[in-house]
Amino acid sequence: LFLLGGGIGVLFIAMHRLFDQRRMSLHSMVEQGLVNKEFIPYYQPIVNVTSQSLYGCEMLARWKRPGQELISPMEFIPYVEKSGQILPITEQLIKKAIDEIGKLNWQNTKQIISINVVPEQLESIEIIDRSLDLLRSSKLEATQLAFEVTERKPFNNLTMAFDVIEYLRDKGIDVKLDDAGTGYGGFSYIQELNIRSIKIDKMFVENIGTSDIKLSLLDSIIAFGKQAGMEMIAEGVETKEQSEYLAEQGVYLQQGYYFGRPMVFRDFAYFCKGIAPN
Ligand code: C2E
Ligand code: CA
Ligand code: CA
Ligand code: CA
Repeated sequence: LFLLGGGIGVLFIAMHRLFDQRRMSLHSMVEQGLVNKEFIPYYQPIVNVTSQSLYGCEMLARWKRPGQELISPMEFIPYVEKSGQILPITEQLIKKAIDEIGKLNWQNTKQIISINVVPEQLESIEIIDRSLDLLRSSKLEATQLAFEVTERKPFNNLTMAFDVIEYLRDKGIDVKLDDAGTGYGGFSYIQELNIRSIKIDKMFVENIGTSDIKLSLLDSIIAFGKQAGMEMIAEGVETKEQSEYLAEQGVYLQQGYYFGRPMVFRDFAYFCKGIAPN
């Protein structure tokens, strides 16, 4: 028994080492990616279907390693959120995005660029002050920046987050609750953090046209949003039918493949030429 225990122990240590090595190498791959600026912002349009105009865009991260296919954020964001490397990655992306979107002359038309952040980033004003600095040297105004946050990782310091979100509101920067209605888009935060905008997750939008229980969930989220006077953006809109249903329910800010996929800046700039400004 003793020997068996020892054997398992050795096996455990060996496996642990292997796991650790993998983690180390992913960690250093990301570090290298930061140095080589391999993280690139993609932009997906958000459309106002009532006025047929552009509300703005969401910035979505992609990772381009030399000689490799584009890596989706689903593959690396969960890891870098844990490792803490999401902080420098976001910073690099914001810098690039403000630089690129600044070229679109949005200063008169007031479209918004919306950035995904983790709760931690709303618990200090570091990234915010840095973003504000970047905005000052661009043509964009502070009011044209927005942040999206989910509950994928919890807030550690709600009091601090509340203060930061108030500080942002003072500057005209909106914080949106992402993935609203899923386990991650926690409705308790709406009240606790005084959040005024929600992004309705695509898992609800998908069910439009079916009799799925999620359709009644969608209806209740919309009813709640209206009652509370929330700004609502629906994500994952892929069909005309979904878009029309949402618009009938009063959700006229929409995002999804039906309008445009996330794209590189050059393509997004081209897309913007084909649609009325806000
Ligand atoms: P999300 O914030 O909920 O972003 C929406 C996701 O839905 C994006 O996936 C987008 O490409 C996808 N999408 C948009 N329209 C449609 C549609 O009509 N149909 C379908 N099937 N999908 C659609 P993506 O780009 O793969 O990003 C996945 C997630 O990774 C994001 O979900 C977000 O939570 C996270 N993420 C991406 N970039 C960043 C970032 O810079 N920072 C952080 N913290 N998270 C990020
Ligand atoms: Ca988002
Ligand atoms: Ca979302
Ligand atoms: Ca989502």
